[in-house]
Amino acid sequence: MAMEISEPLVDVLRAAASIGVVTGAGISAASGIPTYRGKGGIYDDPEEGDRTVEALSGPTLRDDPDRTWHAIKQLALAAHRATPNAGHNAIVALERRARRFVLLTQNVDGLHESAGSENIIDIHGNLRRTICQSCGVIGDEPEWTTLDGSPRCACGGVLRPDVVLFEEMLPTDKVLRLYAELVDDPPEVVIAVGTTAMFPYICEPVHATRLAGGTTVEINPEKTPLSDVVSYRLAGHADVILPALVAAL
Ligand code: NAD
Ligand code: ZN
Repeated sequence: MAMEISEPLVDVLRAAASIGVVTGAGISAASGIPTYRGKGGIYDDPEEGDRTVEALSGPTLRDDPDRTWHAIKQLALAAHRATPNAGHNAIVALERRARRFVLLTQNVDGLHESAGSENIIDIHGNLRRTICQSCGVIGDEPEWTTLDGSPRCACGGVLRPDVVLFEEMLPTDKVLRLYAELVDDPPEVVIAVGTTAMFPYICEPVHATRLAGGTTVEINPEKTPLSDVVSYRLAGHADVILPALVAAL
C-alpha cells in the first residue's frame, strides 16, 4: 500500500539545506532487533526488563563484568545477524541530498554505519567497539559466538563494550557535538524516528528546531511525548514511511 506523504512536508524537505535525524530502537525493529520499550519490546515483561537493566549497568560492569558481558552478548548476537533495512537506507539518501546533515542515534547496533550514514553521533556508543579498562586501547568487537565471560585485552585488562551503560554518564565529546550541530545551530528540518523520546537530550533537537521556526516530524506507530509537539506526525513503521518520504522528493 502506497503511503501518502503530505505535499507541504515534501516541499519543505526538498528545499531544506540542513536536515537532522534522531533515531531510536524502532528504526532497527524491521531488521529483527527487539526494541526495549513499546510493543514487543523486552520491557513488555517488567521483571525481565528490570533484570536486563541491572545487568547492563555501570555498577554491574564494575562488580560482575561477566554478567554485563553476558547481557551485551545477547544484544550483539541479534545485531550481528541483522542487516540494515529500507529505513536505514532512506536516511543515507537524505544525507546525500542535504548540504548539512546530522544523524543522532541512540542505537548501539552499528546498522547506520553499515548502511552508509556518515555524519553520525552515536550518543550511546557502538557494540562493535571495545575499550580496555586498564590501558584504554580501542579495539574491535569480540568473537561473539565463542565469547564466555568477559573478553581481555592483550595487556591483561578487562575490556568493556564502547557503549553507555545504565547509570553511566554520556561521553562529553558527543554531547558537545549534539549541542553544536542540533541545538545551537538547529537544522531546518528534524525527523525523530522510532524512539520513545524518554531522554531530554533526545527531545531537545526537536524543540530547538521548532523554536527556531523549522519543521519537525515524528515517525512512530505509537504516540510519544513528541507526538503533540511535532509539525507532522507520521504514524507507522520507519521501514515503510522513510522510503516513501524519500521517493516523494
Ligand atoms: P525504545 O525501545 O524505548 O522504543 C522503541 C520505539 O520505537 C517505540 O516508541 C516504538 O513505538 C517504536 N517502534 C517500534 N517499531 C517501530 C518501527 N517499525 N518503526 C518506527 N518506530 C517503531 O527505544 P529508544 O527510545 O531508542 O530507547 C531505548 C534505549 O535502548 C536506547 O538508549 C538504545 O540505546 C537502547 N537500545 C538499542 C537497540 C539497538 O541498538 N537497536 C535496541 C534496543 C535498545
Ligand atoms: Zn589493555
